[in-house]
Amino acid sequence: MAEPSSVETSVIIRCFNEQKYLPGLFDALDRQSYRDFEVIIVDSGSFDRTREIAEARADQVLRISSHDFTFGYSLNAGIREARGRFIAIASAHTEPCDEHWLANLVEPLRDDTVAMSYGRQLGKACSKFSEAEDFDRTFGPHGREESPARWCVNNANSAIRKDLWEQYGFDEELTGLEDIGWARHWMDKGFRVVYRPDARLYHLHEESWRQIRRRYYREAVAARRMGIKGPNTVLGETWAELRNTASDLINAFNPKDNPVAARLTLGQRLREVVYFRVNRNIGTFKGLLEAHPLETRQEQEDALFDRSTRAVVIHGPGKVALEEMEMPECKPGDVVIATAHVGVCATDLEILSGALGYYKNGMAKYPIVPGHEFSGHVVSMGQNVTAFKEGDPVVVECIQSCGSCAECRAGNFIGCAERTELGVFRRNGAYADFVTVPARFVHKLAAGTDMAQAALCEPLAVVLKGMRRLMPALAAAPGGAKRAAVTGAGCIGHICAVELARRGFPVTIFDRNQSRLDVFKGRDSIETSTDLDRLGEFNVVVEATGHPEVLDKALHAAPAGATLLLLGLPYARKEFSFEAIAAYDKTVVGSVGSTAEDFEEAIRLMPSLDLSPLLACHLPLERFAEGWELARGGSRLKIILDVGDHP
Ligand SMILES: [Zn+2]
Ligand SMILES: [Zn+2]
Repeated sequence: MAEPSSVETSVIIRCFNEQKYLPGLFDALDRQSYRDFEVIIVDSGSFDRTREIAEARADQVLRISSHDFTFGYSLNAGIREARGRFIAIASAHTEPCDEHWLANLVEPLRDDTVAMSYGRQLGKACSKFSEAEDFDRTFGPHGREESPARWCVNNANSAIRKDLWEQYGFDEELTGLEDIGWARHWMDKGFRVVYRPDARLYHLHEESWRQIRRRYYREAVAARRMGIKGPNTVLGETWAELRNTASDLINAFNPKDNPVAARLTLGQRLREVVYFRVNRNIGTFKGLLEAHPLETRQEQEDALFDRSTRAVVIHGPGKVALEEMEMPECKPGDVVIATAHVGVCATDLEILSGALGYYKNGMAKYPIVPGHEFSGHVVSMGQNVTAFKEGDPVVVECIQSCGSCAECRAGNFIGCAERTELGVFRRNGAYADFVTVPARFVHKLAAGTDMAQAALCEPLAVVLKGMRRLMPALAAAPGGAKRAAVTGAGCIGHICAVELARRGFPVTIFDRNQSRLDVFKGRDSIETSTDLDRLGEFNVVVEATGHPEVLDKALHAAPAGATLLLLGLPYARKEFSFEAIAAYDKTVVGSVGSTAEDFEEAIRLMPSLDLSPLLACHLPLERFAEGWELARGGSRLKIILDVGDHP
């Protein structure tokens, strides 16, 4: 872009998590015929790849805290750094339609009577049908002067004179419509505001219905503060909206050049029109009629930010979808993590089917985002978090106990009645772009750690906790040399066999599925077998299938004095006889989950363990359903979902 000290126009772009659209906007800026401009990005705490993209392509990137953000505040911050005498303003989720956009937009400003110009906005196929109709209604193909009877000026596509801004900046208190406030100020002083239909850009919203309600709500609140609208204009608004709805419905039958038409069938268009209009009006009328709208800073921040994340949501037994959802807020003590990889676990499938105990006994409720075996990078910290910084590679404990009840203080975390389990119950997990968790359950990894392998820290920690409980029992058990059997060669069983071998035990791993055993070929320290009748040869048995039949067999076949570690679940209902346990001095140890101590050990041990067979199958998050199918079929040892890989 242009050399220092010699630009006519500064283009100001405000960003919050705009990685999706920003590259397209920069490409379109590169194609502009008018070249006398610089680009200034004002980022209010993005935690996706926005800053990386901006730093590579903009002339300047400013950062403001998301806590300070209003549209006016961020624009003023950007303009303060601007060197041009003209300021062009574009929303980050826009894309100029052609190479003449910027030339046409700033051209009117060369007339000294003009304070501001604004361009045409158009929808694209991804827009909502009604929104494209609204753009056409509001902007349209004909040039005109702005008038108080019909405020259309809009900072998604506008330009102003910097000398006037220096005398009067954008209102930093408004929750929207700062553009109209500014235009009104200068029109009152006799300046003109002109509409240039040939300065065209696509304005790309892909919002949920909730986001649409919120956007119109905060705009209505701003219009009310400025005295443009209020409870007394509701009747007129209603009338206009009924007309717009009727017109949208008619146009849904005959969409002419509405770009959304091709994306939707007639039925979908009609339905979308109704949904859009209803949600838009819920937002608008709430904003116009509510007694004390957006008075606190927190309310404003919530209304201004769309902290949305892609997430796989299980809504009930058998009901699952990948959707946009709101991120949980980042409270003091929390960190936000961008997921790198998440492992598919049998638990995820049990949540989906409703078979998991917590869901059967009513302790857990849907909806839930699954995913407890994951790695990621810290992208944002709540207040009071000092142990982490942005970009830290991390893993997170699944079982999150309260830390203050009597059980927790005694170290019996699994006995904590207040506990949550990430991605299992009461806390959403990592089948999502972002996860918010209390910092005390987060563990830092060394720089350069293999992030896919790091997603195995959780199952490794589960195994290490099991070992921690098994070892004292073994030390107390009668008999000499220990020979270990592991039943079940899935993820947990596989890791158990590798870890027992590392500890020097002769290990035999059992499974019905020969392909799961074949991956051990070439490992001298681990034998494989499909014949459970051999269990009598082993005085240490780790049960990792969760099958009641296998457990029953192990309880009876294990020799006198044997020690059994149960790592599988759910073991279902079956009558077990414990006569063999009591009569033959056998010991049964149960273990579930893991603690901070196990995670630290898992992180330390991970580089020295060869767990490569567990990392052979990768799928992108959006193909999670395929991953679950594979997991159900048992043909893959482990499926790793790739979510995001940015550091
Ligand atoms: Zn798991
Ligand atoms: Zn507790």
